[in-house]
Amino acid sequence: MSRILIKGGRILDPSENIDRQADLLVEDGRIAALGPDLKVSGAEVIDAEGCWVTPGFVDMHVHLREPGQEYKEDLASGGKAAVAGGFTGVACMANTDPVNDDPSVTDYIRSQARKDSPARVYPIAAATRGLAGEVMTEMSALRDAGAVAFSDDGKTIMDAGVMRRVLEYSKLVGLPIIVHAEDCSLVNRGVVNEGPVSTRLGLPGNPTAAEDLQVARDLMLAKLTGARLHVAHVSSAGAVALIRRARDEGVDVTAEVTPHHLSLTDEATSGYDTNTKMAPPLRGAVDVEACRAALADGTIDVIATDHAPHAVHEKEVDFVEAPCGILGLETAFPVVAELVREGRLSPLELIRRLSTGAVQILDIPGGNLAEGSEADITIVDPERRWIYDAAKGYSKSRNSPWDGQEMHGRVVATLVAGRLIYHCDRGVLVP
Ligand SMILES: [Zn+2]
Repeated sequence: MSRILIKGGRILDPSENIDRQADLLVEDGRIAALGPDLKVSGAEVIDAEGCWVTPGFVDMHVHLREPGQEYKEDLASGGKAAVAGGFTGVACMANTDPVNDDPSVTDYIRSQARKDSPARVYPIAAATRGLAGEVMTEMSALRDAGAVAFSDDGKTIMDAGVMRRVLEYSKLVGLPIIVHAEDCSLVNRGVVNEGPVSTRLGLPGNPTAAEDLQVARDLMLAKLTGARLHVAHVSSAGAVALIRRARDEGVDVTAEVTPHHLSLTDEATSGYDTNTKMAPPLRGAVDVEACRAALADGTIDVIATDHAPHAVHEKEVDFVEAPCGILGLETAFPVVAELVREGRLSPLELIRRLSTGAVQILDIPGGNLAEGSEADITIVDPERRWIYDAAKGYSKSRNSPWDGQEMHGRVVATLVAGRLIYHCDRGVLVP
């Protein structure tokens, strides 16, 4: 029988609103006991003094690039980056090559991930064929193959009639629709947030109205259809206000925000660093503040990284030409731990948004530390400082705006199904 005893940590279980000092015993892959001063013989002991012991983090928005773009990332490297970031589960978007719009692709991702990835991988299938926004995918077959949600992320479904049908059908299939909400005609060729910064830099702007307008439309269609809508990477104060109002009215909507939209403004773009280019773009201070407030009051349910690896040669080009997206998995915890230090969120509420929130939206296992549950556990030291070196990270790519910076807060250990799979002093422990 394998036993791991996690000693002396602060147990944070949002599913049961537990926040207290205790030991936690893992036995044969499951959580066996939780209590003060557990005495167990023959157990491997992990010292969690000064640490938080939490349900495994779940990132419901990553791009793992397999199949088709394995030079950027694959299920093995992305899975390692995930567990190094404390994520025991990730949901991967459909914009692979080929697109995950067919059960054979969903099936490939699941079976390959079981072999290669130390983190659990949940495929999100496309809502429309080829992400073209025209013809619905075969949602029930994709669900049966293991898809946990549908999304054309990276692209917006611009045709409202198609979007209505997608929502109606998703309701029958019982899975949520995740939207990348940006009105393409308003984004036009915008590459940074439209405002004083875009003017100063001489770069084409992408207005917050592009996001607000699309979120408004999708909320109206969610209301019309009664379907479950999840808004990806919310970044504007306007979108936040619309989502808050819709929730008050009973629309079945959830939302996520990224660590970068919570921590960086468009000022970060001032040096033309292409590792600050993403969609939606980094916004102004008012928008960042609105996102933080919405995360704190629960209007935004989830922190998701939108981990989007790109090769060095792809990012080392003119800002206008560079692809959108940055890495997120290995830096997420320290970046958002800042919100606790600033008193914006309690530790328990932060962990809810890193773990339990996504589990509930995707209806997947995890998100709790209840006795008898599979032991997906993350141990973090909220005070430990370290330097993030993207070149030494587990992702195949390096496109991070935090490269070389000091981080405050560190993932100490990650357990998946009761196995210690990552430890910060020993690295990823793949058998
Ligand atoms: Zn997106």
